[in-house]
Amino acid sequence: MKTVDLRSDTVTMPTGQMRQAMALAEVGDDVFKEDPTVRRLEEKAAEITGKEAALFVCSGTMANLVCQLVHCGRGDEIILGDQSHVFFYEQGGSAAVGGIHHRTVANLPDGTMSLEAIAQSIRPDDVHFPRSRLIIVENTHNRCCGMPIKADYMDKLRQLADDHGIAIHVDGARIFNAAVALETTVAELVRQADSVCFCLSKGLGAPAGSVVCSSADFIDEARRARKVLGGGMRQVGVLAAAGLVALEHVAERLEHDHANARHLAENLDAIDGLKVELNYIRTNIVYVAVDPERLSAEKLVQRLADRGVLVFATGPGKIRAVTHHPLTPSDIDFAATVFAEAIQMD
Ligand SMILES: *Cc1c(COP(=O)(O)O)cnc(C)c1O
Repeated sequence: MKTVDLRSDTVTMPTGQMRQAMALAEVGDDVFKEDPTVRRLEEKAAEITGKEAALFVCSGTMANLVCQLVHCGRGDEIILGDQSHVFFYEQGGSAAVGGIHHRTVANLPDGTMSLEAIAQSIRPDDVHFPRSRLIIVENTHNRCCGMPIKADYMDKLRQLADDHGIAIHVDGARIFNAAVALETTVAELVRQADSVCFCLSKGLGAPAGSVVCSSADFIDEARRARKVLGGGMRQVGVLAAAGLVALEHVAERLEHDHANARHLAENLDAIDGLKVELNYIRTNIVYVAVDPERLSAEKLVQRLADRGVLVFATGPGKIRAVTHHPLTPSDIDFAATVFAEAIQMD
C-alpha cells in the first residue's frame, strides 16, 4: 500500500549524501572536545545563527532543558506561551530537573504573546515572588499553525526584556522554516536572543540532534548541563556529519515543503466537512478542523491510516499534517484524495 506519512517532519530519513558523510566522518571523543566533525558542525551553527559558540546535543528537548538550566536557578521563573512546546510537550522537565517555575502567557494565533501580557507577568522584586529570569519564544510555532515569528517582534521583546534584566531564549526547532518563509536569515531572526536552539532532525532531515547557540560563556555552562543530563556522547561525529549535510544542502530546500503544505491546505479546505485557516499556512504545518457533526478527528485519523495517509489528531476536532522531504506534489494529491474519500464514507 502506498503510504504518505504526514505525522511529523521527524519521520524524514537521512539522504544518501548524509549516509555517505556519516560513513566517512572523522571522529574523536567529543566529551574531550576531540571530535573534529562535531566541532565543524558547531562552528557552522554558530556562524549561521550569528552567535559566538554552539553545542551539539541529543534532541530539541535536551537543547531547551540545557538552556533553561543555564539561564535559571532553582525557584526562578520562565515566561512562555501556553501553547509552547517547552510547556506542552517536555514533561515539565525544567521543574522536574531544575526546580524552575513556568509562568504561561496566552499564545496569540500567530504564535507570539502580547507584549503587555508579558510585561504584566514579570515579577516585581518582592520576597513573595519567584524571580523572572527568562522569556521563551518558539519560532516557528508548532501548535500555532507553524507560524514564523518576525524580527521586529523580537526587537520589541528585547526592549521589554532589557527594561527588566531578563534573558530571551528562542526555541527554534524549525527556525530554518521561519527564515525561508520570511525571506530572511536565521541570524536576523535570533539577533535579539541570548540563546537559540534548532533541530537537525525535523525538516532538515538528519537522523538525530539539535544545536544550542549562544555566547562562549553560555556554551561552557551548557556543556556542563549537557553532561549532567547524560548527553555527553563520544564519537558522535557520525551524527554531526549528517547535520552538516543538512545545513549545507537541505535547508535551502525547505521552500518545497512549504509549497506542498499550501497545496495540501487548499485541497483540504475545499473538502466538505474540513476547514483550514489558509491565512495561517506559512510554513510546513497544516492544522485541519474537522466538523464534529460529521466525524471525530480520531475516527478520521483511523480511516486515513487504513488507506495509507498518516496524521495525528491534536484535539477533539483537530488534525495536524506536516510536510517534509521527499514528499512530492503527487503525494499531496494522493493524501487529499484519501481525505475526501475518508470523510465521505458515512
Ligand atoms: C520537536 C520540537 C522540540 C523538541 O525536539 P525533540 O528533538 O523531539 O526533543 C522542541 N520544540 C519544538 C517547537 C518542537 O517542534
